[in-house]
Amino acid sequence: MAETATVQRHVHLAELTTLRVGGPADRLVTATCDDDVVEAVRRADADRTPVLVLAGGSNLVVADDGFRGTVVHVATRGIVQESDACSGVTVTVAAGETWDDLVVRAVDLGWAGIEALSGIPGSVGATPIQNVGAYGQEVSQTVAQVRTWDRHHNRIVTLAAADCGFGYRTSRFKAEPGRYVVLGVRFQLALGDLGAPVGYAELARTLGVEVGQRAPMLEVREAVLALRRSKGMVLDPADHDTWSAGSFFTNPVVAPAAVPEGAPAWPQPEGLVKTSAAWLIERAGFTKGYAPPARRHSRTSTPWRSPTAVRPPRVTSWRWPARSAGGCTNASASCWRPNRRWSAASSRNAGQNSVKVGSADPLVAMPITSSSTIANTASTSSTVPMIPVT
Ligand SMILES: Cc1cc2nc3c(=O)[nH]c(=O)nc-3n(C[C@H](O)[C@H](O)[C@H](O)COP(=O)(O)OP(=O)(O)OC[C@H]3O[C@@H](n4cnc5c(N)ncnc54)[C@H](O)[C@@H]3O)c2cc1C
Repeated sequence: MAETATVQRHVHLAELTTLRVGGPADRLVTATCDDDVVEAVRRADADRTPVLVLAGGSNLVVADDGFRGTVVHVATRGIVQESDACSGVTVTVAAGETWDDLVVRAVDLGWAGIEALSGIPGSVGATPIQNVGAYGQEVSQTVAQVRTWDRHHNRIVTLAAADCGFGYRTSRFKAEPGRYVVLGVRFQLALGDLGAPVGYAELARTLGVEVGQRAPMLEVREAVLALRRSKGMVLDPADHDTWSAGSFFTNPVVAPAAVPEGAPAWPQPEGLVKTSAAWLIERAGFTKGYAPPARRHSRTSTPWRSPTAVRPPRVTSWRWPARSAGGCTNASASCWRPNRRWSAASSRNAGQNSVKVGSADPLVAMPITSSSTIANTASTSSTVPMIPVT
């Protein structure tokens, strides 16, 4: 392993998750270059040691018992603007870069297409996993390639966007959990002062434009941040109410007849509609406020919050219901050398959308499953289907 990796034992993962819960990891490798990420994963795999890839920790719930295995903390850095033409710019970004830093840079430099994704915590490398999206944009709209370490074949594989299986809060990376470690993402962005056409009614209203119209990128960013703040969806260390692991539930995409009276219904392809997980959760009795053992947020319904600043919730074991009623199937530093390493080589099949969770009593019996990753080795792990979020 290169000298840049640090190895620590028994570090509490609460320090690395935005929910601020999580017990100790047997081994924590902090990797600041791709070689170290690959080497840490490869070695653990060779030793048959469980691996948890962790970056910003903003979409992870880790049990108090911690993680029995190697946690690979992706802390790589590097943003390279690789080509520039009148039509656009290609930007290659290390997985460990902070997502919102990239958005800030894009807005500053007039790279359009990710401005509505302002304020989303976490890393660039995690964005393709669940096809991060908000306010009418998804990373799939601008991702050109994803460079990965394929743990099945022990080799670097670069996937073109078309091979990433992107859907609503899902991708082949999520469909084949654990197989791919994202090392970097290449984005294709438009150039200009105006953002991409606004695709979300609430944002359009806030900006005073129609859906489909464009607005100055900086205004879009500021409007999105204001909307997110009003819902407690911008992390603020001083505001305990913002400590969360993000939205835990997806908006179900269903046949129109399945939408309860009064629930929102946004048209989707193939005659389906997307309804609101928040609306359903509220009507199921989980109102804003508290619901043991984790508290529901007081400003919005989908995220989970850590209930107290001094004493995070005890997280022991988890099991989620099988694929739900919703039926949402589309459920570095010096080492960074993107030009040399981005040779295209794709691979195959997309599997079921699933995640490893511990087997134990159900914690919450909601008819909608989660997109957040639940890391728990307190008991024997099992794999259950899961539906994507936000
Ligand atoms: C306040 C708040 C608001 C949020 N708002 C949104 C939103 O609007 N839209 C949205 O889509 N999400 C949202 N999220 C969720 C979260 O920000 C995203 O899922 C983000 O992409 C997670 O990045 P991370 O680096 O923190 O990932 P982590 O939490 O570290 O990891 C999440 C999952 O991705 C895997 N992973 C991370 N990095 C890699 C990698 N390099 N290679 C392979 N696997 C990897 C991990 O193993 C884990 O399974 C929000 C979260 C919070 C706390």
